[in-house]
Amino acid sequence: FGRPIGDFQAIQHKLADMYTETEAARNLTYKSAWEVDEGGSPNTMLASMAKEYASRIAVKTANEAVQIHGGSGYVNDFDVERFYRDAKITQIYEGTTEIQKMIIARELQGKGF
Ligand SMILES: Cc1cc2nc3c(=O)[nH]c(=O)nc-3n(C[C@H](O)[C@H](O)[C@H](O)COP(=O)(O)OP(=O)(O)OC[C@H]3O[C@@H](n4cnc5c(N)ncnc54)[C@H](O)[C@@H]3O)c2cc1C
Repeated sequence: FGRPIGDFQAIQHKLADMYTETEAARNLTYKSAWEVDEGGSPNTMLASMAKEYASRIAVKTANEAVQIHGGSGYVNDFDVERFYRDAKITQIYEGTTEIQKMIIARELQGKGF
């Protein structure tokens, strides 16, 4: 449409959400690591929250990145489609999303895992 795609407000809003949510995921992850560094025993619920949320935001952000790139985001000529797959695996390995949520819920209910 004769102008850079990033000039459209709809795209700018996506970028703002992607950056904000990535920063929130990063901070949750840092908080979890910080508690371990401080010498406390690992906070199971916080670690699961960080793993689940960061994975979810990675997938959401990579999905939006594919969308912003349009057809170029889908084909493997560019790295964007690989970023999506690389994000998706984080919801599967090292404890799936479903298992992380089970851990969070059990900790919330005081049942441990
Ligand atoms: C690229 C890659 C690298 C890997 N690297 C390693 C590695 O280095 N070391 C290692 O040990 N493993 C590794 N894995 C294995 C990975 O950890 C497992 O794939 C993962 O734990 C999921 O197990 P699964 O594939 O058997 O799925 P399943 O356990 O069969 O689960 C399938 C689906 O059912 C859901 N599910 C299962 N049980 C429940 C339940 N009780 N309640 C609700 N939902 C449930 C899961 O969340 C998932 O969505 C790797 C996998 C991949 C794809």
